[in-house]
Amino acid sequence: MPTVSLHTLGCKLNHAETSAMARQFIERGYDVVEFGARADVTVINTCTVTGRADRECRQLIRRSLRASSDSFVLVTGCYAQLEPEQVASIEGVGAVLGSREKFSIFDHLNPDNRSGGPQVHVSDISKGDDFGVAYSSDENGRTRAFLKVQDGCDYNCSFCTIPLARGGSRSQPIDACVRQAEMLVSQGYKEIVLTGVNVGDYGRKDSENLLKLLMRLESVAGIERLRISSIEPNLLTDAIIDLVADSKVLCNHFHIPLQSGDDRILRSMRRRYDTRAYAGRIARVRDRIPNCGIGVDVIVGFPGETEEHFSNTVSFVDNLPVSYLHIFTYSERPNTPAAQYDQPVRPERRFARSRALRMLGRKKRNAFHQSRMGAVRPVLLEGEVRDGLRFGFTEEYIRVGVPAEGTEENTIVNTMISGADDEACRGRIVTPEVAG
Ligand code: SF4
Repeated sequence: MPTVSLHTLGCKLNHAETSAMARQFIERGYDVVEFGARADVTVINTCTVTGRADRECRQLIRRSLRASSDSFVLVTGCYAQLEPEQVASIEGVGAVLGSREKFSIFDHLNPDNRSGGPQVHVSDISKGDDFGVAYSSDENGRTRAFLKVQDGCDYNCSFCTIPLARGGSRSQPIDACVRQAEMLVSQGYKEIVLTGVNVGDYGRKDSENLLKLLMRLESVAGIERLRISSIEPNLLTDAIIDLVADSKVLCNHFHIPLQSGDDRILRSMRRRYDTRAYAGRIARVRDRIPNCGIGVDVIVGFPGETEEHFSNTVSFVDNLPVSYLHIFTYSERPNTPAAQYDQPVRPERRFARSRALRMLGRKKRNAFHQSRMGAVRPVLLEGEVRDGLRFGFTEEYIRVGVPAEGTEENTIVNTMISGADDEACRGRIVTPEVAG
């Protein structure tokens, strides 16, 4: 039986799409083996959100060829879409497929045909509105599934290359999302995470919207948890917050990109809100869902970001009642407006700002965890067991470890939070399993 190994760089959407590619190989009789093992075909699904992601792609190709020198290496994803020639020139690459072609791999290439250099099939993403169906489990087994409901983006944030790599915003119809959710529930998944590039924009072009989608998915029989991966602040409506607040299925967790806490920088980034509007959204969430987990993305070192702008970001974020931060160090992306902006921030300053905000992020996470001490929360246990503890997540997205003995993956247990630090909480199970 031929073998294939697959590896993903980047976001959960990419992970879901790698699973869709794996299914194509399985249908053709391939056996999926771990990345790093000997394989007839190696698939690398790339990301291009930062310059580092491009470098990782090169490293992975070399690593896969070390493990399996005769493997046919297929590179796809955002980096492959934007820089096909660059990718094809990397020694060892057998084929390059674009963002659309990865959903119909065998229509475009034959891994047995290795003559004549790399096969390159990359079409113009701006011309298509097709939707590649995708869903996946996370690495920790059959607990959380990532369901792709939306792809592409019509916003034009000045730093972002994703619309170039993935095209305009488009969505999967509600009925199709519901059918896939039903199938995932029947396979035993307890949590479904709705993923996309700009999930809050779901359905806009089809007279549907995220609120309607959430209401339909909430009533899928047997669904235990539904999570929104991320939502732009300008698209997080009162109605969505109210629905989450009153729902037994929708997780009390929002991930809301901020990017900067300075209004001049936000304008230069072409974001669609200012700090006042952002703070208003957070206040509304806290008002309706006091213990909600709230995650925030911030970019540091954007062109023109002075010490004053940066310190505005630090104090704005410090005063926000949020739970954790994801910090990104700005890197120039080809063909984006920001890459041409004056006053680039020196690399060492970017890294210093990143370190400072990461410390603030640890402080925020620790404070959120400490505030939950003594609370009893359902935890969906995953496969990870370390130092005698099995880990899982609450609906607020707090990582909690409980004594592993007698526990099982993919069960939901009521857990009293009894310890906390800036990484995770510890707890003890206080009632029999409520599900599983
Ligand atoms: S909203 Fe902005 S940052 Fe997010 S994918 Fe769209 S263009 Fe990129």
